Amino acid sequence: MKAWMEYDRRNELRNAYLRQARESVRGIEDREMEDILNLLHRLPLAFPTQEGLFVYRDGKSLKNREAGISIVPVTLEDVRVSDFWKSIALQNRAAGNFLIRLSTLVILTNQSMLPATNAITLLHEGYHAKFFAENSHDGQSDEEYCREEVGAYSFINRIVEKMGGDVYRMILREQIIRMEMIASFNDEDIPNVIPIRSEYNDLLSLIYGFPRSEHEMTALQTNVWIHAVFTIFEEYIEDKEKASERKAMFLCSLYKERRIL
Ligand SMILES: [Zn+2]
Repeated sequence: MKAWMEYDRRNELRNAYLRQARESVRGIEDREMEDILNLLHRLPLAFPTQEGLFVYRDGKSLKNREAGISIVPVTLEDVRVSDFWKSIALQNRAAGNFLIRLSTLVILTNQSMLPATNAITLLHEGYHAKFFAENSHDGQSDEEYCREEVGAYSFINRIVEKMGGDVYRMILREQIIRMEMIASFNDEDIPNVIPIRSEYNDLLSLIYGFPRSEHEMTALQTNVWIHAVFTIFEEYIEDKEKASERKAMFLCSLYKERRIL
């Protein structure tokens, strides 16, 4: 395929995702969200190559490192590019990823998910892109990574609460009460073992629409659960710093369990 056709095709994919995300969060006022969406519009577009990435900027192609942060809409056809891109294109954990090694935000366009779920993913990964742009680093310790995740989830929690309003707050409270009934939390001592999330709460469909897969249900309910756990830490631990540490520890152990770390 000719380079400009390739550019147009991927650019159209990127724009479609961003349009959809903007549509999903219409009416929500949030400075940080606006900054992130604007950043995603501005990022130079990239394509997967055998060596890594091919980044377009100002009509020129650049090697990844000189180009800074980029955005790459990945399609199923990219499984042919290399084993690396095959593993990215076929993953089904999320609809996107921020790859620190290539400093690029991947949009997985072959996932069939609700517009709202895609918007949440784009914003979450966009948070990482912005964080990377502001704190350029070559790598992070597990603790640093988990602290960044606390920032990403706190941001997403705020946005979905604005999206879902009272219905969302009711679902969240229900999740908190359920966990309080299973575990005994008190101010001095929150057990290390946090009750696992509940099954998908059907009321979430009132906010997002009906999920298109089991996997999507799990992802949406997991976000509620993480929000509930964060809220419990905030409500039981008075010291903000300590509450934030607990959130990071919680995400770290979750990620280790899922072999993300
Ligand atoms: Zn993340």
